[in-house]
Amino acid sequence: MDCIFCNIIERKAKAEIIFENEKIISFLDINPIHLGHILVVPKMHCIDFLSIPEEYLNPLIQVTKIVTDAMVKSLKPDGYNLFSNNGNAAGQSIYHFHMHITPRYFNDEIKFKLNLKQYREAEMKDFAEKIRREVRS
Ligand SMILES: [Zn+2]
Repeated sequence: MDCIFCNIIERKAKAEIIFENEKIISFLDINPIHLGHILVVPKMHCIDFLSIPEEYLNPLIQVTKIVTDAMVKSLKPDGYNLFSNNGNAAGQSIYHFHMHITPRYFNDEIKFKLNLKQYREAEMKDFAEKIRREVRS
């Protein structure tokens, strides 16, 4: 298996590392939406959000906050996006989970092209019930 993020973690590939601890690494995206676009990655090969081991979840969110805070203080963007693409249909290109943090600016002309749907009469309740049945806590 040749995974670019695993290679970065093992220092077999170069990256501009922003922060790392025992479980998480964070570095600059090589193809940024805006300069300063950061990735946050578990130091364990897991394909997507649902495959992240439980003990990596809190560290992932903590590091996401640490580097977002540093990016906001240093670059002073007008706003920022946090997002993650999971699966080919969602635009995932590297199959090792990663959280994106990108600075945003007024009038930067970057838009998620949305095609918002509307629920018909009882549909919203049906969707909620379908999902609720699978909720595990
Ligand atoms: Zn990997």
